[in-house]
Amino acid sequence: MLELQRLDQTTAALRTELEGMPKKLREADAKLNGARAAVTSAKEALTQALGQRKKLELDVEQWKERAKKYRAQSSSVKTNEAYKALQQEITGAEAEASKGEDRVLEQMMAVEEAEKRVKRLEAELKESEKTIAGEKQQLETQFAEKKKSWETATAERKATAKKMSADMLELYERIAKKHPGTVMAQVRDGQCRACGVRVLPHTIQLLESDTDEELFRCESCGRILYSLEPIPHSSPGDAATGAANG
Ligand SMILES: [Zn+2]
Repeated sequence: MLELQRLDQTTAALRTELEGMPKKLREADAKLNGARAAVTSAKEALTQALGQRKKLELDVEQWKERAKKYRAQSSSVKTNEAYKALQQEITGAEAEASKGEDRVLEQMMAVEEAEKRVKRLEAELKESEKTIAGEKQQLETQFAEKKKSWETATAERKATAKKMSADMLELYERIAKKHPGTVMAQVRDGQCRACGVRVLPHTIQLLESDTDEELFRCESCGRILYSLEPIPHSSPGDAATGAANG
């Protein structure tokens, strides 16, 4: 029965781990999606910066065109006053063109920054893709190994259950419904270790005498009592899975 309980605990722990795997894979994908989204938004920012540069360049062109037009007109003006006014317009347009050129230069630097950012994030994405592909492969290997362990333990459990009497197995399964994985409770310091309720000294005496084959159940929680330390199992799989269970 203790063997059955151990196998139930093992399969339950393995099942929990197996069930947690898809979530771990999803988390890995989510990390990758985050890196991809960062690249996308950096590219959008770059496109925007390039558009802004184009717009500023057009502004400069327009001011230059205007200055050119005024200069062409200045040869045909009749009055001194009109000439002066036109000169003012030319100076103004040229000043705007010059200011616009400064803005274009600034924007070119912004474009450069945006390009650098895209390159950096793309490199980071590539790195993440490599790391996460490795992580996923590792998870898949672990999954396969744990599935195998689970299958082995399940088969062992079946074989162990077969060796038990129908009555015992029925009792075990009935208690297991209420207390999965802890059908058996050790008696220590006069108490049921599962629920803490005192066990009658007479019952303990009978439990401790090897000759008595009778089953005793905790009066409070109904678990099957045992008094001996469980025999430590040292199958190689236990150490590996045991560490991950906590
Ligand atoms: Zn109890």
